[in-house]
Amino acid sequence: MSGFSTMSGSDTSRVCLIGLDGAPHSLLLRLIQEGIIPNIAEIVRQGTLRSMTSVHPWVSSVAWTTLSTGVNPAKHNIFGFIDRVPNTHQVFIPLNTHRRSPTIWERLSDAGKRSVIVNNPLSYPVKPFNGIEIAGFLAPKLDSRSVYPSSLLPQLEKMGYRIDTDAHLARKSRDEGMADILDVLEKRLDLLFQLLREQRWDYFQFVIMETDRLHHFFFKQMEEGDPVWKPAFYDIYRRIDSAIARVRELLRPKDTLILVSDHGFCSIQKEVYLNAALADAGYLNYTGDPTNVRGPKLEIVAPSSKAFVIDPGRIVINLKGREKTGSVSPSDYERIRSELVEWAETLKDPDTGNRVIERAYRREEIYSGPFLESAADLILSPVNGYDPKGALWRPTIFHQDEMMVGMHTFDDAMLCISRSDIVAQAEVALEDIAPTVLQLLGAPTPPELDGKSLVQ
Ligand SMILES: [Zn+2]
Repeated sequence: MSGFSTMSGSDTSRVCLIGLDGAPHSLLLRLIQEGIIPNIAEIVRQGTLRSMTSVHPWVSSVAWTTLSTGVNPAKHNIFGFIDRVPNTHQVFIPLNTHRRSPTIWERLSDAGKRSVIVNNPLSYPVKPFNGIEIAGFLAPKLDSRSVYPSSLLPQLEKMGYRIDTDAHLARKSRDEGMADILDVLEKRLDLLFQLLREQRWDYFQFVIMETDRLHHFFFKQMEEGDPVWKPAFYDIYRRIDSAIARVRELLRPKDTLILVSDHGFCSIQKEVYLNAALADAGYLNYTGDPTNVRGPKLEIVAPSSKAFVIDPGRIVINLKGREKTGSVSPSDYERIRSELVEWAETLKDPDTGNRVIERAYRREEIYSGPFLESAADLILSPVNGYDPKGALWRPTIFHQDEMMVGMHTFDDAMLCISRSDIVAQAEVALEDIAPTVLQLLGAPTPPELDGKSLVQ
């Protein structure tokens, strides 16, 4: 260990972490090479850029919670954008109230340090701590439950601050979608500079979500060199790069700047509707016509079903005693689970013969902790390009969407840090960020964290 852990109080450098949601390591390398992001290139030259793995499933609420807590989902208790209530057909959206492990800023608050946290996806409703927090996109609107302290609300309203883009616009028209991304990004960056100028902090975490929205709707156009949308895509990164230059001006020389993404991105070849695939294979039966169902209405799962899928690719076995109309007896559980692993890992795209699922993980293979029982029975890791879906209503297994062209990836997330004293391991994991930040700030790193500090 270096001398950083002995530094404390006012001697300790501050840490500013800027999240570029879903920015792939490989894309950053390409943009650096093409001269699009010279300021980020400068940080990479003086510091370190690494590829990073995400978490299963790689959705933003699970990924940012893993990053912010330094533990896996079986410890922090956030497993997806939706989850189900056992023994009912009810589903819910996991929020900050469901999180069971402290965040970096809660631990820092206990150590007497102050944080500014903006746009973390899983921060609604906000909780009091030493600092300020403006919630991310799972917050329905700007109000006293999404802003702490709520005395900041009038200032945010006056700025016209927006929590998120409007996905409906992007689905309707690329022009409107791009204009909307730019509008939210400008307001977001205004707030970024204002907070850096005005607030006192030891830890600053600010997530730019517009990269994720850009990738979902424009990644393929960028990769294919579309004459209109590739330059527009690059312009967003140019804008972010110049904002990073401004951020550096507002930092002190001893501060550490971290740029990080929570998962990678790639173009979608096909969406894969796994419930349609399970139904096709005889594992899932419906009580009615699933094409009439909107939303995750689990009451349509017939008691004779062996399993169903919730977003994005989590298989729940219809276990007797746990699911409302469960039919698989506990003694058959492992046999059915093994059958489903085999089924998922041999699922093929009929047009190409390509496999669709790279691995079907039993939950205990990737998670460990007190909330393991709340995880789905199998978590599917898709082959990049095959976007797993848990919707019940689509009757066909494969679908190509006109507008939604980019999907998250487990690999190819990135960490860029303005320091060269970073351990030389080839791949960094999302869980390593929290212990790294805590060490840089001279705060204790508890043994229950799953990651390791990357500072030598
Ligand atoms: Zn994300």
